[in-house]
Amino acid sequence: MTIQSVNPATGERLRSFEPLAESQVEEKIERAGETFRRYRRIAVAARASMMARAAEILEAEKEEFGRLMTTEMGKPLRAAIEEAAKCAWNCRFYAENAAEFLADETPPTGPKQAFIRYQPLGPVLAVMPWNFPFWQVIRFAAPALMAGNVCLLKHASNVPQCALAIEDIFRRAGFPEGAFQTLLIGSDQVERVLDNPRVMAVTLTGSAPAGSSVASAAGERIKKTVLELGGSDPFIVMPSADVEEAAKTAVRARVINNGQSCIAAKRFIVAEEIADEFERLFVKGMESLKVGDPMDETTDVGPLATADLLETLEEQVQETVAQGGRILTGGERLTRAGNYFAPTVLTDIPTDSPAYLEELFGPVASLFRVRDLDEAIRLANDTIFGLAASAWTNDDEERDRLIDEIESGLVFINAMVASDPRLPFGGVKTSGYGRELSREGIREFVNIKTVWIKEGPETKLAETE
Ligand code: NAP
Repeated sequence: MTIQSVNPATGERLRSFEPLAESQVEEKIERAGETFRRYRRIAVAARASMMARAAEILEAEKEEFGRLMTTEMGKPLRAAIEEAAKCAWNCRFYAENAAEFLADETPPTGPKQAFIRYQPLGPVLAVMPWNFPFWQVIRFAAPALMAGNVCLLKHASNVPQCALAIEDIFRRAGFPEGAFQTLLIGSDQVERVLDNPRVMAVTLTGSAPAGSSVASAAGERIKKTVLELGGSDPFIVMPSADVEEAAKTAVRARVINNGQSCIAAKRFIVAEEIADEFERLFVKGMESLKVGDPMDETTDVGPLATADLLETLEEQVQETVAQGGRILTGGERLTRAGNYFAPTVLTDIPTDSPAYLEELFGPVASLFRVRDLDEAIRLANDTIFGLAASAWTNDDEERDRLIDEIESGLVFINAMVASDPRLPFGGVKTSGYGRELSREGIREFVNIKTVWIKEGPETKLAETE
């Protein structure tokens, strides 16, 4: 497996790296284990100072980090700079709140002699995707490091320079050598990392097949996993909604990150009554997007991150059309250098076609018309995925039903789905399990230790009950 940076806007190969040899990987894991023994004893306040410093570096150098992301994976520069700034926010959030999230707790229903202490687990492996090459890593690493764990990163093979840059940020922020290490390895080396008894847990963000494979390997070795996998998020629009606002947001929600976001809206489910109006506005919006060089500040949609992704998306669209789907706009790759696909809207989508069954990872929207709310909810849930949903209505009863009945980890009403350090993030069904961000995220990779101290009559009372 080659680990290489290729500029997706031009096809130019930027840098190649030889994957680490097994002995080098073992050395790094050994270092992680040794660092952990010391690092776990560093006070949360001292960890917080280093994390705050990491935030400062991210903020101060966001333009440079943004350019690196855009060069390696093609997202529009504006969005890449925003991504680096959001990483700074996440680091600050955990620097400021980790002490409270990890403080000893006496559960309200528990006996007085008992309390809960949150302790780190040890080295945690993170297998990460390229689509938000800084954000995905930082949203795992900030809470993991604040909890006293140490991190090993196996990043996607097409963003090695981002992986090394993140390692450098934590080093410069003052974290000890070995607290955060990048392993430049291929996916075929992941199982060997999990073999090492020092590695206590693994988190994977990526596709369902990768998640299944890594979780199986971790399961065999009884190691904790968190999985953040794919999604085919619904975007439901009911007649009481502000259709114009919904259509405008729908365009952004579909093409964010060149359409390659797990929480990008992918299936647009619109009530028949307003479907013509929504379709007209939505198609017009998709057609008005500026596709081109992601380094150009005015670009809305850049190239897909790799040539393979472009090919897969093209096949999914062609297969859907061959089965009876209809193209309202776009539908093909652009004839120019780089991995560009035209912003596309599909409709009349057959239930056994890729656009119905699979995640479309690019600027391709699937538009469905439904009779009523029952049909909208049924269609929204008719997927293996359950990551997030955006629903548009100004009817209170409809809103409550959508919140209750949509099978997903997040539901946003009259708004586009987004992640936020203060709120839990994660899916149900094939979109994975476990949560990142907020208090929930920092508690994924900790030993929730029950402590009982015998000290008087209340212990007796509890024992006899
Ligand atoms: P991917 O192909 O699954 O790769 C993700 C990571 O897993 C990469 O580091 C990859 O390494 C590694 N990997 C792949 N197969 C593996 C295996 N069998 N064993 C061990 N490691 C393996 O996904 P991607 O194309 O990078 O990312 C797109 C997917 O991620 C989409 O489905 C998207 O929805 C999902 N995603 C989910 C979230 C979320 O929070 N739920 C966020 C972002 C993205 P190599 O690069 O070396 O192959």
